[in-house]
Amino acid sequence: MKCYDAIIIGGGILGCAVGYELEELGLTVIILEKNFLTSGSTGRCISGVRQQFSTPTSIRLAMESVKLFEEMGEEVEWYSGGYLFLAQKEEEKEKYLHAMKIQKKQGLEVEFVDNKEIKEIVPGINTSTLIGGVYCPTDGEANPFLVVKRYARKIKEKGGEILTQNKVVHIKKEGNIFFVTTSKGLKFSSPILINATGAWLNEVNKLMNVPPLPLRIECHEAFITESLPPLFSPMVVSYSPNCYFQQLHYTQQIIGCYTPTTPREGREETSTYSFLPTITSRILKLIPTLQFVKVLRSWVGWYTLTPDGNPIVGETELPNFWVVGGASGHGFMFGPALGKEVAQMVVRRETKLITEEILIGREFKKGEELG
Ligand SMILES: Cc1cc2nc3c(=O)[nH]c(=O)nc-3n(C[C@H](O)[C@H](O)[C@H](O)COP(=O)(O)OP(=O)(O)OC[C@H]3O[C@@H](n4cnc5c(N)ncnc54)[C@H](O)[C@@H]3O)c2cc1C
Repeated sequence: MKCYDAIIIGGGILGCAVGYELEELGLTVIILEKNFLTSGSTGRCISGVRQQFSTPTSIRLAMESVKLFEEMGEEVEWYSGGYLFLAQKEEEKEKYLHAMKIQKKQGLEVEFVDNKEIKEIVPGINTSTLIGGVYCPTDGEANPFLVVKRYARKIKEKGGEILTQNKVVHIKKEGNIFFVTTSKGLKFSSPILINATGAWLNEVNKLMNVPPLPLRIECHEAFITESLPPLFSPMVVSYSPNCYFQQLHYTQQIIGCYTPTTPREGREETSTYSFLPTITSRILKLIPTLQFVKVLRSWVGWYTLTPDGNPIVGETELPNFWVVGGASGHGFMFGPALGKEVAQMVVRRETKLITEEILIGREFKKGEELG
C-alpha cells in the first residue's frame, strides 16, 4: 500500500492541472488513469481557449487560464489567434453586445467588428449573411496533448506519480483515510481524494455512495483536415447555422465541430454519417474557398454538462472527497485556472476565482449565454 498526500482519479486536463498545482503547494500526489493520459475528452477537443463568456466568474477564470497558457508558451503550442463570434441575427448581436459589456468590465480586450473588418480578420469569408461579430484577439489555442504532457512531466519532476492503465474500481474511507484499489489490484491511500473523471464523474461518486451530480453526457464530433497554407487565425464561431472551426497555428490544419441540434446522449465512440457532410457544408457557406480541402479524420468525444452549463467543483458531502468537472465544451480552456483554484481550495480552503456559480451543491439558475 503506497500513501500519498492526495490521490487524483482521471488523467485529463483537469486531473493533471489539479495534480500539478497540488505539487506546487508541496503535496505529493498520484494520478490514477484507467486508460492513457488525454484518452478522455481532453484528447478529443479542438484546442480552443476563449475568454468571451457572459458571467464575471467564467470570464475571470478564462482570463487566468490564458495567463497560464501564455506562461507555458511554445512548449504547448500556445498561440493567441483570437476568437471571432459571427452575428447572423439581431438577437445574436444583442447577446454579444450585452456580454461584451460584462467582459470589458473584467478588463477583457474585445470589440464589435463590422463585415469589412471581419473580411480582414478572415480573408475569403462570405459576409452576405453577417451583421458583424465580436472579436477578442487575446483568445487563442493550445495543444491539449502537450499541455497534459507538460503537467505530467512537472508532476513527476516534483516527486509525484502517474499511473495509467489502472482503473479505480474500489474506494473505501476508514477514519480520515481513503483506500483506493485499481483494476490491477494495486492499492493506494491518502487523506485527500479528487474525482476528475470527466464523463465518468458519477460512476466514481457511486463507488463512494455519494449522491450523483446532475450531469448529462452528450456526444460531440470533430474533424481535422490536411495542412494548408496560412489562411486565417481565429476560432470562428457561428450559431446559425452552428459550427466552430479554426486553422491551427502550428500545423495549419483546420479543426472544427458543432453542437448537434438533437443531442446524442451517452458515451458513444462511433462517428455518425451525417456529421461530416453537415459541418463541411456549413463551413463552406462561410468560406467557399475551402471546397477542395481534404478531411483527414473525424472522431467523437463527450461533453459533461451541468443544468446551467457551468463547471461543477468543490468538496462533496464526504469531507476531503472533491470533484472537478462538468465543464461542458470549456474544460480545456478552464483547465489551468480551475486546477490552480481547486488546489488552493483543497489545501488552504481559499479561492480567488471560484464562486457560487460553479460550486457543487448550488442551485442551478440561468446558464452561460455564450455556450
Ligand atoms: C469534440 C469536442 C471539442 C471540444 N473542444 C473544446 C475546446 O476547443 N476548448 C475547450 O476548452 N474544451 C473543449 N472541449 C471540452 C473538453 O474536451 C472537456 O471539457 C475537457 O477535456 C474535460 O476534461 P476532464 O479532465 O474533466 O475530462 P477527461 O479529459 O475526459 O478526463 C477524465 C479521465 O478520467 C479517466 N477515468 C474515468 N474513470 C476512471 C476510473 N474509474 N479510474 C481511472 N481513470 C478514470 C478517463 O479515462 C479520462 O482520461 C471539447 C470536447 C469535445 C468532445
